[in-house]
Amino acid sequence: MRKALVAGNWKMNGSKEQAEALVKELIEGFSSGSCSLGKQADVAICPPAVYLDRVSGLVAGSDIKLGAQNCSEYCSGAYTGELSAEMLVDLACQYVILGHSERRALFSETDQQVAKKFETAKASGLVPVLCVGETLDERESGKTLDVVSAQINAVIDHLGQSAFDRAVIAYEPVWAIGTGKTASPEQAQEVHKEIRSQVAASNQVVAEKLQILYGGSMNAKNAQSLMAMADIDGGLVGGASLKAEDFLTICQAASR
Ligand code: PEP
Repeated sequence: MRKALVAGNWKMNGSKEQAEALVKELIEGFSSGSCSLGKQADVAICPPAVYLDRVSGLVAGSDIKLGAQNCSEYCSGAYTGELSAEMLVDLACQYVILGHSERRALFSETDQQVAKKFETAKASGLVPVLCVGETLDERESGKTLDVVSAQINAVIDHLGQSAFDRAVIAYEPVWAIGTGKTASPEQAQEVHKEIRSQVAASNQVVAEKLQILYGGSMNAKNAQSLMAMADIDGGLVGGASLKAEDFLTICQAASR
């Protein structure tokens, strides 16, 4: 059985004080037993990069792992404003979100650029969480599977058949992100199953192990029904990860 993963994407929200308070509430939730992960689930939080160092110190020794929201495709050098995968490892990050739809849409990241970032992240020992997903127009014109498949193939073309070994995919329909509209468990499962088959076509063993997360308005109420589906192995959670109680409820749903 695959272990679940719940990752909180804090995006560009909060202050240092709020980040510290949220982490403390989460740690308290896990240590008091109000949420118990057992061996079934991992939990990661992805704060804004400037707070990673502070949060890293706070989560050390707890059940919470650390992730970043992006990294450069380059290893080091004259890339003003960028953060390398090695720097994230230096701060004890274990995961990095890559190819989030906000980065693709607002910062013009291409499939090829995302594939390079994915390569750099893996080479540094980070677990990349590759975000894929279709817009509403693409869904309504029946292109969902083509879009998702192209986003995944860009990584396989770049890195070969074992690309998704020690990696995570997050299916995040763009129309469900931050909108309060969630894909139904059946809609999400259909795409997750296809993603697993696509990865299996290049590597069956990797596909069986691959954690495929759902993201898009996952919340304390819908998490359980989504994660009950056979190919949904957890969640990438935006808005609801900023409220400790909701995030803990989602984590608890993943650990059943
Ligand atoms: C996200 O940004 O990855 C996300 C899933 O956001 P939300 O949960 O707020 O829809």
